[in-house]
Amino acid sequence: MIMSLALPLDPNEKITPHFTRQELECKCGCGLLPSLFTAKKLERARLEGGGLPITLSSGARCRLHNMAEGGSPVSLHMYGLAADVIGWGDLKASTRAGKEAIMNLFNKIGFHVLDSGGCVHVDCRPWIPEVLKVR
Ligand SMILES: [Zn+2]
Ligand SMILES: [Zn+2]
Repeated sequence: MIMSLALPLDPNEKITPHFTRQELECKCGCGLLPSLFTAKKLERARLEGGGLPITLSSGARCRLHNMAEGGSPVSLHMYGLAADVIGWGDLKASTRAGKEAIMNLFNKIGFHVLDSGGCVHVDCRPWIPEVLKVR
């Protein structure tokens, strides 16, 4: 049995007023969180979006988990600068109308948005150091 010396982290801990650790952290359990800048921007989208819940399928992703998920080798999720949004209130990114509304909302906040199939990928691209830029 592998003993962990790490303190247990509370999955319900509020990282921002509305987003919990569980919603934002890497799904592999490593504990990686998005940058505070990104988290605060997500919180801002929630406020601008009428206070309705924003549902994420992915927040931060460590290098190993990103590889396991088949993410881009230069994925901004690894730098804590991206999230994948699947819902805003009752709107779902799996529907055309829902996806358009979500893209418009995050675009308005200043996120770079990408239609990523069943979700809307949002990232803080304009502020990335030149060396990390995808293109
Ligand atoms: Zn991880
Ligand atoms: Zn993404």
